Amino acid sequence: MSVKHEQSARAFREAKNFIPGGVNSPVRSFGAVGGVPPFIARAAGSKIIDIDGNEYIDYVGSWGPMILGHAYPAVTEALQQAVLNGTSYGAPTLLETELAKLINELMPSMELVRMVNSGTEATMSALRLARAFTGRNKILKFVGCYHGHHDSLLVKAGSGAATLGIPNSPGVPDSIAGNTLTVAYNDITELRSVFAEMGQDIAAVIIEPVAGNMGLVLPKQGYLGAVRQLTEQYGALLIFDEVMCGFRVALGGAQSVYGVKPDLTCLGKVIGGGLPVAAYGGRRDIMEHIAPAGAVYQAGTLSGNPLAMTAGIVTLKLISQIPETPRQPDFFHKLTAKTKQLCQGLQAQAAKFELKLQFHQAGSMFGLFFSDKAVDDYDSAKQSDAGAFNTYFHAMLEQGVYLAPSQFEASFMSAAHTDEDIAATIAASAIAFARVA
Ligand code: PLP
Repeated sequence: MSVKHEQSARAFREAKNFIPGGVNSPVRSFGAVGGVPPFIARAAGSKIIDIDGNEYIDYVGSWGPMILGHAYPAVTEALQQAVLNGTSYGAPTLLETELAKLINELMPSMELVRMVNSGTEATMSALRLARAFTGRNKILKFVGCYHGHHDSLLVKAGSGAATLGIPNSPGVPDSIAGNTLTVAYNDITELRSVFAEMGQDIAAVIIEPVAGNMGLVLPKQGYLGAVRQLTEQYGALLIFDEVMCGFRVALGGAQSVYGVKPDLTCLGKVIGGGLPVAAYGGRRDIMEHIAPAGAVYQAGTLSGNPLAMTAGIVTLKLISQIPETPRQPDFFHKLTAKTKQLCQGLQAQAAKFELKLQFHQAGSMFGLFFSDKAVDDYDSAKQSDAGAFNTYFHAMLEQGVYLAPSQFEASFMSAAHTDEDIAATIAASAIAFARVA
């Protein structure tokens, strides 16, 4: 593939005149890996096409939502129909209940569900609710987990904040950051000692049950269960942030895989089918504290937007086995098998060059670390070789494979990826690994 970036380079320069850094979300700028980010003109299936006409096999999938692939016909057709009925009413619709009901069927721990527009809003609102419910102020998060960009959680954060080296953002008041405790992911001993010291003050523990924002890092066996046990012991709420891993690691989310029931769950990405939807929900007795049922305030002009609900409903129906829709009984089984096929292929190529890498997979999420040591928390993720990742990333991009431009991000498989896509990606990796070796 011959890669020309003139149009994207021009577009990037122009964008910087009007938008900070030229992008509306920092990781899109290629800040860590350098170079010009392709400006995307359109997308279909497993491919994105940039304004220079380059086509890429896309493993970013808009950072997770595009589980069916881009412009999936059933989703775009439903949206075309829906738009004719108007784009927003600011009044209740049947669609909102339908999506909430679907979520509840697939994740029964979410007895009541409130729709919002972004994962950031979901986690922010869940924390406010947890503080109000428990009457406590402190919250606890894990180093390298990312839960959005609101003040309480932008402390030792992963994703773009880690990529750009600003896990604690200027502008977050000390008085707020001071109420956020942090411990290492997967370290139950450290968590126990923080609870022993301050357990009575902790309103909630928020965790990515499968962490995707320090690269992909899986919870150790028994870890989530131990976190559940500790929170219960001290009367703190357990919030699973499944914005990324919900409907990615399994139909019922990480909570179904690990058999741990949180008090509250945050969702986003897949539940909007590529439109801005997120949600938080959980135990009825807690959720009933939200206005207007209760006094904890949270609202949104565009929350439950009919177009966004439509895309979410079609997507969830398609990926699940709910009757009266086209049945896809082994959707997750197939998607997981395809992801495994790709990871094994990449691993085999890396082995030819005697590269010591760590490959991680959870359902349709996958990632690799250029490290010869096990990666199970942010510190070990940080020790992987950023220079090697950059070389690999650019070699893949040149060959038409679009990966997340940071070692602190996960990649995503979609239902639209074909065997040919996977074979082409593995072939590209042989050249990329050769450059790294
Ligand atoms: N929580 C997790 C686990 C995420 O991965 C993200 C975003 O990537 C968020 C929350 C924030 O979601 P949003 O970008 O929609 O605000």
